[in-house]
Amino acid sequence: MKFVSTRGGEKVTGALAIVKGLAENGGLYVPEKFPQVSAEELEGMLSMGYPERVATVLHKYLDEYDMAGLLSACENAYSKFEGDPAPLVRLDDGVYMLELWHGPTCAFKDMALTVLPYLLRKGSDILGMKEQILILVATSGDTGKAALEGFKDAAGVKIMVFYPSDGVSKMQKLQMCTQEGDNVNVVAVRGNFDDCQTAVKEIFASAECAAELKKYNTVLSSANSISFGRLAPQIAYYFSAYLDLVSGGQIEMGQEIDFTVPTGNFGNILAGYYAKRMGLPVRRLHCASNLNNVLTDFLNTGVYDIHREFYKTTSPSMDILISSNLERLIFEVSGRNASLTAERMKSLKTDLKYEITPAELAEIQKTFDGGFASEETSVEAMYEVFEDVGYTMDTHTGCAMKVALDWFEKNKKDETNMVIVSTANPYKFPQDVLYAVTGNDVKDSFKGIKRLHAATAMAVPKCLSELRDKPVRFSKTVDHKKLFEEIIEFVK
Ligand SMILES: *Cc1c(COP(=O)(O)O)cnc(C)c1O
Repeated sequence: MKFVSTRGGEKVTGALAIVKGLAENGGLYVPEKFPQVSAEELEGMLSMGYPERVATVLHKYLDEYDMAGLLSACENAYSKFEGDPAPLVRLDDGVYMLELWHGPTCAFKDMALTVLPYLLRKGSDILGMKEQILILVATSGDTGKAALEGFKDAAGVKIMVFYPSDGVSKMQKLQMCTQEGDNVNVVAVRGNFDDCQTAVKEIFASAECAAELKKYNTVLSSANSISFGRLAPQIAYYFSAYLDLVSGGQIEMGQEIDFTVPTGNFGNILAGYYAKRMGLPVRRLHCASNLNNVLTDFLNTGVYDIHREFYKTTSPSMDILISSNLERLIFEVSGRNASLTAERMKSLKTDLKYEITPAELAEIQKTFDGGFASEETSVEAMYEVFEDVGYTMDTHTGCAMKVALDWFEKNKKDETNMVIVSTANPYKFPQDVLYAVTGNDVKDSFKGIKRLHAATAMAVPKCLSELRDKPVRFSKTVDHKKLFEEIIEFVK
């Protein structure tokens, strides 16, 4: 299978697409076609455990990687999870939570970032590369920690994480700034996530930066969700959730289901779209945003307009105006028109907006719809579910819950099974979750954890409770124009 950039140019191998992360023309790598999973193959996946399901999906795209290697990498990656890596929890008849936060850093980013180091190392072996790889990450909170944990002390790799100085939660910041490992670096960047992500993307796209890094025998790679190596493992949990519903007798094989996905950079939900394009019986994908509801508006009107206020919310990993992975969807519905996609991305940069055609919008709306939750309505949704069935969810999942509840309200006769994708352990945002379920405000995160435990009796993950006593190793803050200097300092 070969890969193409959404903005045109040469076809590349899967290994190169993963090692490079982002195409030189700024485009995102996409498979030249969607590999298909037949009904028999889907049937065959029923008896597989989670790691084998992931390896099977990965091998469809990365056919130059050997299956045995992929399988053992997946087994190793998901052995770092507590129990089932992607359990489905029943909330009500036909309504399920897909919990993706049982990994080492308690957020869904672990689903891919525990596997990515292998995909990258193997890819660089396939390509016969000799250089050191520097992973650059711009994070809205959860990717940074999951990437640091995935790549710490990996041979031949260094990792550098940039996060917006006041755009992440206290727990997220502590998780990153206490990171162990000799090959890691964490720097705060003044500004919001979009400033941070844009600055990092510019470094990736710069030939001068590449030439400068070459002096230090270093090449860049990405662990952000723009990398196909992030997207691919995420496709697998859509399959796995479906198969678990079939195994559990909740649906018949072939019956369509819906997903509601809390969305920021459009990576998680795009993986659901890829699963559908591969033949998984997915009917609709409901895209849930917080107050930063660019995507809600886009899915309703076809206009992507970021000329608007940026809100800092209690779901910081969704505080994003430029959802990078949407470019992959736009590329598909344009009939894979790379020059048109490039033009639109250029107009997003210069005019802060672009518009797709009514036909393209109609194509998107066949599968997608969008909704959003305000700070108040997400809290209400979290409270309502906690009160009704005793289920506690994090603030991001709270936004998805609100959007799903709105869908149920408007479609009372719809009996399609709904899977709501749950993206973080509630203890990652203890004060806000405590407030949602009890109405109590506490000032300190660790006190929040204690009170939340008292209110819910949910087990507190060790990786969060132990943060209190870990030494802070990284505390530098820089201007977003100064990132490259920090990078050179680190690879010297
Ligand atoms: C990253 C993240 C999201 C958003 O996922 P995207 O792939 O960026 O759309 C939602 N919730 C949590 C907890 C996250 O960490």
